[in-house]
Amino acid sequence: MAHYDCIIVGGGPAGLPAGIYTCRAGFRALLFERMFAGGQITTSTRLENFPGFPEGVDGPQFGSLVHDQATAAGLALEYDEVSALTLKGDVKRVQTASGAEHTANAVICAMGARRRPLGLDREDAFRGAGLSYCATCDGAFFRDKTVAVVGGGDTACEDALYLARLTKAVHLIHRRDTLRARGVMAERVKRDPRIDIRWDTVVEELRGGERLESLGLRDQKTGHRQELPVDGVFLAIGLEPQTELVRGQLVLDALGYIETDRRMRTGVAGVFAAGDVRNTPLRQVVTAAADGALAATSVIEYLEERQSADDA
Ligand SMILES: Cc1cc2nc3c(=O)[nH]c(=O)nc-3n(C[C@H](O)[C@H](O)[C@H](O)COP(=O)(O)OP(=O)(O)OC[C@H]3O[C@@H](n4cnc5c(N)ncnc54)[C@H](O)[C@@H]3O)c2cc1C
Repeated sequence: MAHYDCIIVGGGPAGLPAGIYTCRAGFRALLFERMFAGGQITTSTRLENFPGFPEGVDGPQFGSLVHDQATAAGLALEYDEVSALTLKGDVKRVQTASGAEHTANAVICAMGARRRPLGLDREDAFRGAGLSYCATCDGAFFRDKTVAVVGGGDTACEDALYLARLTKAVHLIHRRDTLRARGVMAERVKRDPRIDIRWDTVVEELRGGERLESLGLRDQKTGHRQELPVDGVFLAIGLEPQTELVRGQLVLDALGYIETDRRMRTGVAGVFAAGDVRNTPLRQVVTAAADGALAATSVIEYLEERQSADDA
C-alpha cells in the first residue's frame, strides 16, 4: 500500500490533464486507467475540433500524446481497474481489481461515460457476436458485410460514415425524423449514397443463433414491423456516466452524473470530479481537459490548506 497526495480515477482527456497540473505543482499523483490512456477519444478516427491541430489528429495518437506529456510531468500511471472507493474522511481509500490498495489525501473522479445499451433481450449474448458499441474498434470485422447503426447523434453519424467506407451496406436506424448530429455531420450522412436512413424506426428485437442475424424493427409512425437481415449492429444511442463506484457517496443528478460546482468540487471534502462523468453542459475533449485542469487546481488549493492547518 502506498500513500499519494492525489489519486485520479480514469485516464481520459480529463484525468490525464488533471495529472499534468497536479504533478507540475509538485504533488505526488497516481492515475488508474482500466483500458487505454486517452479514454473515449481513442475510439474516434479523427479529432478535428481540438485547438492546436489544424489538420485534425487521430484519436489514438492524441491519447498517446497526452499520455506521454502526463508521464513526463511525473504522473504515475497504472493500468488497473478501480473496484472500490472510500471517499469520506481525511484519508481516501482506493482498491483495484488486481487487489492493490492505496490511500490519498484527495481523489479526482474522471471515469467518463460509456455507450448506453438498448436494454433488449440477448444484448449481452450478442456482444462480440455481431453487436458492438465501437465502430472504429470492430468495424474491420464487417468488411464487405451489411451492418446497421442505431442512433441519430454525432457518434451514430460518425460511425455510419466510418462503416460506409468498409462495409457493403449501412442502415442507420433512428427513432426520430431528424438527426440530432451537428449540421455538417448530419449533412454528410444524408448525402452519402452508401447510407440508408430508416427514420422513425426503433429496434424491438435482436435475432439470431449464436451470432446476430437480423433486427426486428418497428416504424413508430405506422406501427409496421419488419425484419432487417444484418451481419452486425453498432449501438450509438447516447452515453451513461460511469458512476457506479461513487453511487451513495457523492451527489448525482437525475441522469446519474456527479454534481460539482464550478471548481469541480463535489459535496465531499477532498473529492473532485472532471469531464464527461460530471454534470457538464458539453461533453467534449476540450471541456474535459479544462475540467481536469480546474479539478487539479482545486486539489492543490485543498492540499495546501490542509498543509497550513497541520503546520498551525
Ligand atoms: C466515437 C467518438 C467520437 C468523439 N469525437 C469527439 C470529437 O471529435 N471532439 C471532441 O471534443 N470530443 C469527441 N468525443 C467525446 C470525447 O471523447 C469525450 O468528451 C472525452 O473523451 C471525455 O473525456 P473524459 O476523460 O471525461 O472521459 P473518457 O474519455 O470517457 O475517459 C474516462 C476513462 O476512465 C476510465 N475508467 C472508467 N472507470 C474506471 C475505473 N473504475 N478504473 C480505471 N479506469 C476507469 C475509462 O476506461 C476511460 O479511459 C467523441 C467520443 C466518441 C465516443
